[in-house]
Amino acid sequence: MKPSTIAIDGPAASGKSTIGYHLSRYLAYLYLDTGVLYRAVTWAALDREIPIADEAAITQLAERLHIDVTPPTEVDGRQYTVRVEGCDITWAIRTPEVDAAVSPVSAYPGVREALTRRMREIAALGRVVMVGRDIGTVVIPNADLKLYVVASTEARAHRRQLERQTKGEHAEYEAVLANLQQRDQIDSSRAAAPLKAAPDAILFDNTDLTIEEMLKRAEKLVDDLDPNECM
Ligand code: C5P
Repeated sequence: MKPSTIAIDGPAASGKSTIGYHLSRYLAYLYLDTGVLYRAVTWAALDREIPIADEAAITQLAERLHIDVTPPTEVDGRQYTVRVEGCDITWAIRTPEVDAAVSPVSAYPGVREALTRRMREIAALGRVVMVGRDIGTVVIPNADLKLYVVASTEARAHRRQLERQTKGEHAEYEAVLANLQQRDQIDSSRAAAPLKAAPDAILFDNTDLTIEEMLKRAEKLVDDLDPNECM
């Protein structure tokens, strides 16, 4: 018997989305990268010129915003399509402006409450791979399999820089590194649902693994799971 709910957490650019997406395809499960929900709220706040420091306005936005995450509607390398009020923002949520503002937005307890509610509704349906920062600790603490994915900060910054350059974007290593470090610091030290490994999560360090090795190892973790633990 395979795990029905898989929770994958870890710092920015650690490889958790690559692992999560792969496992969702391997198992034919739904994939939800929960970072896109926080990014969508952040994008909408910037778009509407709501000050990021205005906690009440941002929280209200998170409660009311219509966010849709669906299977990909374009063949352009995306893993899913993200829409806000019907508008495709799949790539717009990946800009340096959103990167810079998303962690302060995610630290607001009201924002987390609104988005966590939506995540739990999806998780309750089962057969889901959910990726984020607090999935194994807060969103689905009873997940059948929990992974905490890490890689060295330098490896993560190099990967994120390469990812940006592959998309034809200009990306300075130092700027990418600084953003990752800043986000990790805010995400780990916030009071509400900080980034940390659940006590029963499997630590998955992929610093020295190729993508193929990393994905094979993830498949093996799913295959080897004790069936009794999934009941
Ligand atoms: O995973 P990604 O880097 O796209 O996430 C963007 C930001 O969203 C994170 O830096 C974090 O602040 C926030 N986030 C969160 N909890 C989650 C998923 C993402 O706080 N479950």
